[in-house]
Amino acid sequence: MKGQQTTDNKQLNLSNNTVKNQYSLIESNTMGFDIVAEKYYEINSLKDIEYLIENNIFNDNKTLILGGGSNILFRNEYFDGTIIHSNLKGITISPDDDEILQLSDSATQNHTIVRCMSGEVWKDFVDFTIKNNLYGLENLVDIPGSVGASPVQNIGAYGVEVKDCIDCVYTIDLTNGDRVIFNNEDCDFSYRNSVFKKEENKKYFIVAIDFKLKQKADLNLEYGNVKEYLEKNGIISPTLSDVAEAIKQIRAAKLPEVGVIGSVGSFFQNPIVSENIFKNLKETYPEMPSYPNENGVKIPAGWLIDKAGWKGHKENHVGVWDKQALVLVHYGGGKPEEILDLMKKIQDSVKEKFGIEIKPEVNIV
Ligand SMILES: Cc1cc2nc3c(=O)[nH]c(=O)nc-3n(C[C@H](O)[C@H](O)[C@H](O)COP(=O)(O)OP(=O)(O)OC[C@H]3O[C@@H](n4cnc5c(N)ncnc54)[C@H](O)[C@@H]3O)c2cc1C
Repeated sequence: MKGQQTTDNKQLNLSNNTVKNQYSLIESNTMGFDIVAEKYYEINSLKDIEYLIENNIFNDNKTLILGGGSNILFRNEYFDGTIIHSNLKGITISPDDDEILQLSDSATQNHTIVRCMSGEVWKDFVDFTIKNNLYGLENLVDIPGSVGASPVQNIGAYGVEVKDCIDCVYTIDLTNGDRVIFNNEDCDFSYRNSVFKKEENKKYFIVAIDFKLKQKADLNLEYGNVKEYLEKNGIISPTLSDVAEAIKQIRAAKLPEVGVIGSVGSFFQNPIVSENIFKNLKETYPEMPSYPNENGVKIPAGWLIDKAGWKGHKENHVGVWDKQALVLVHYGGGKPEEILDLMKKIQDSVKEKFGIEIKPEVNIV
C-alpha cells in the first residue's frame, strides 16, 4: 500500500516521488496506526509548494500538514484528504539576508541566529546546536518530530519552551501563496499553544524558523531530576553536552521508544486550576504535586491519572505506560478507536475523582 506513485507527478510537473495516492501513514505516525491517506504530497523545494498552490490543490481539498506524526492521532483509518509533508532541508548559522523572504535583525553580540528548514529532524537540529556550542535548546533534546512542528505546540521539556529561542517563523499561506513572517510576539506562544494551533491558521505552511541562541553558558537544571542525575554521575560543573546527555538518559528511561511502542509522548496537557480549587484539593491530597503558573496552579496530569489507578493498565492493543501515566501506548495491531475509548475512560475517571477535566495535548484529526 505504501507510496504508490501516480502519473500526477507528470501532470503537475513536480519532482519525483512528490505525489502519492492511497499512501500508508503507518511509518508517518508514531502511534503506529495503519492509516491510509487519499493523497500525500512531499515538498522538496519551495517551487514544489508554489506549483501546488498555483494549481489550487489546497483550496479544493481537506488538507493536513504532517511532520513526523508524533503529535497527531488520526480518528479514522482512512484520511479522505490531502496530506502535505515538508522535506525542506538545510541549517544555516548567521544566514545572509537574501536566503528566504527577509531576515529579522535581532542577532546581538551575545546571540547567534540559526536558520533551520522545516523538514529537518528536531533531534538532529538540537544535536547540531550543541556541537556548535550554542545554548538554549539543550533541554529540548530528543523530542521526536520535525523542526517545522516545534512552534505549533510550543514544545517544552525540563523547564524550557521553544518560544524562548524562536526569533521568527517563515510561512507560506497555502490558500494564496502569500509569504508571511511571524515574529516571536506574533506567534502568541503559551503553554503547548501558539497562533498556529488556531483553526483559521492551519493554512500556514511553516517553511523555516530562525532560532536565536546564546553563545554563553546559561544552563537550566532546575526542573525534574536533571541536577540529581548529574550529581549522581559525579558531574559538578556540567557542560552543554553533559546536560543534553543527562536529559537523553532520563527521557530514555521514562518514555517508550519511538518505532518500538506506539505513543505520542504526553497524551494529555497538565491542567491549570485556580488557587482556590488547588487549596481545596491539597486538603484532601496533601501530597499532590504542583507548579505555579501565571493563570493559576499547574497539576501534573500524569500524577492524577496514576492516582486514579490507570498506570500500567492494558486493554486489547492499547494501554497506559507503566513508567509514566501521562503516556498512552499502542502495542501494535490496534485501531485508533481503542485509544479514543481509553482516553475517554481516563478523562471520566479523573473528573470523577478530582473534579478536574484533562484535555488531550495530541492533535486529534
Ligand atoms: C516519545 C515522545 C516524546 C515526546 N516528548 C515531548 C516533549 O518532551 N515535549 C513536547 O512538547 N512534545 C513531545 N512530544 C510530542 C511531539 O514530539 C512534538 O509535539 C513534536 O513537535 C511534533 O512534531 P511532528 O513533526 O511529529 O509534528 P506532527 O505530529 O506531524 O504535527 C503536529 C502539529 O504540527 C503541525 N505541523 C507539522 N509540521 C508543520 C509545518 N511544516 N507547518 C505548519 N504546521 C505543521 C501539524 O499540522 C500538527 O498540527 C513527544 C512525542 C513522543 C512520541
